Amino acid sequence: MIKICPDAISETIIAQLKEYNLMFNFEYTGTVLKLGDNITQIYGLNQVMSGELLEFEDKTIGIALNLENESVGAVLMDISHQITEGSLVKATGRIAEIPVGPNFLGRIVNPLGIPMDNKDNIKNDGTRLLEYMAPGIINRKSINEPLQTGILSIDTMIPIGRGQRELIIGDRQTGKTTIAIDTILNQKISNIICIYVGIGQKASTIAQVVNILKDNDAMSYTIVVAANANDPVSLQYIAPYAGAAFAEYFMYKGKATLIVYDDLTKQAAAYRQMSLLLRRPPGREAYPGDIFYLHSRLLERAAKLHNDLGGGSMTALPIIETQASDVSAYIPTNVISITDGQIFLSNDLFNAGIRPAINIGISVSRVGSAAQTKVLKSIASKLKLELAQFTELESFSKFASDLDIETQKQLARGIRLRELLKQSQNSPLTVSEQIALIYSGIQGYIDTISVDNIKNYIDNLVFSLRSSKNLYTDTIESMDKLTLEAENSLIQHIQISKSFFIL
Ligand code: ATP
Ligand code: MG
Repeated sequence: MIKICPDAISETIIAQLKEYNLMFNFEYTGTVLKLGDNITQIYGLNQVMSGELLEFEDKTIGIALNLENESVGAVLMDISHQITEGSLVKATGRIAEIPVGPNFLGRIVNPLGIPMDNKDNIKNDGTRLLEYMAPGIINRKSINEPLQTGILSIDTMIPIGRGQRELIIGDRQTGKTTIAIDTILNQKISNIICIYVGIGQKASTIAQVVNILKDNDAMSYTIVVAANANDPVSLQYIAPYAGAAFAEYFMYKGKATLIVYDDLTKQAAAYRQMSLLLRRPPGREAYPGDIFYLHSRLLERAAKLHNDLGGGSMTALPIIETQASDVSAYIPTNVISITDGQIFLSNDLFNAGIRPAINIGISVSRVGSAAQTKVLKSIASKLKLELAQFTELESFSKFASDLDIETQKQLARGIRLRELLKQSQNSPLTVSEQIALIYSGIQGYIDTISVDNIKNYIDNLVFSLRSSKNLYTDTIESMDKLTLEAENSLIQHIQISKSFFIL
């Protein structure tokens, strides 16, 4: 006969229950309650932190964003997951981070640091938090070194310094990406590490960008971080932070870096979509209340660090797309107020063939001129003045029938200066070339060239300066001074270059 011993049975059950509790520790594990559009509601995870990485049963990664009384709202980083209601989730104890390191240079990765270029795995040098606190005032230094874009009108009139945040803003197809890419191309000789973050773009557009970078040997010092339009909105949302984490890795090692966010309008839209699905209360234009913080905490991370911290820098070029040139919309005004200036691109100028289509009148750089090189600065102030006078005269002269000779001369000069500032894409100019061009404009050397021939003249002058070592270029590059001898050497180059085109 079997003897039943209730004590032994209850002990066994209690012991098993203990094990069960350990297995399902609701402090750190949970189950999926609801799932839709890559957003989940999770029961459990009582001790999870906001922004903590979660690991689902099928190894999919998620991030906990909404910590509510009864549940946790999280976003998934992968569309092709196998998660269903009831799937288990584990808190990892780690705030979202990505692998970083020098081996990422030359590679295309997604915002989780996973290679997207069908090449080998990348060996990292540690990890960095996606959301990292921006350096405080004491750890910063004021902007004092220029970041040359190679674009004549920007370097002369809207100069950018290392550590600055300069917004590129304009309607669609006005050349925003081109300005950012040309700036990356121009860093070949400057030793600045570049990061291009593509957000919500077509994969073909990113492929084009990568091709331009490859064709111009710029990939060796560039990392491309891409979350395309067909990627989950959660990835599009974290992409800029991932890019900033890569830049910070180099910045805190004392390196100068440049980061392009192309574009933050799409990141804001992704965040709006995510927030609405997470049932966060919508505010103006249906964006959640913390939309300003989305961009401000990102752009605050751009900095010029103090020498005690290695003197590294992160220069940020965020891009914003406007609708019908409306800069007073919600997201544009937010980002304008966070940045240190903006390069405004105009559709009308672009269609009129003035490319890059920069509207000089409303573009500004609030801190960059402190870092501009001396000769460029002195020459640029005259250029700005002449252009401003020209713009005024031009609009006024439309109503006048006969103009005096002086006004006609000023108009002719202005038209030529405007022609001088046109620049094809992917053809950056060095500081000495820029000075040479502006010098020939404001000193009147191009007044005698027909407008149609200005482009040929520019090509000639640049070719002439590049083809042989000369006193002018040497002096500017080594001393940043336009000595009398250097000026004479420059005038000779100008005279030869224009001799074919004199009216
Ligand atoms: P999107 O809104 O689609 O992102 P975008 O504002 O980034 O567009 P780009 O893609 O840079 O604009 O440029 C739009 C088109 O204008 C491209 O075909 C490009 O080749 C051309 N373009 C841009 N800059 C110049 C330039 N300086 N000279 C000639 N063509 C240019
Ligand atoms: Mg673009």
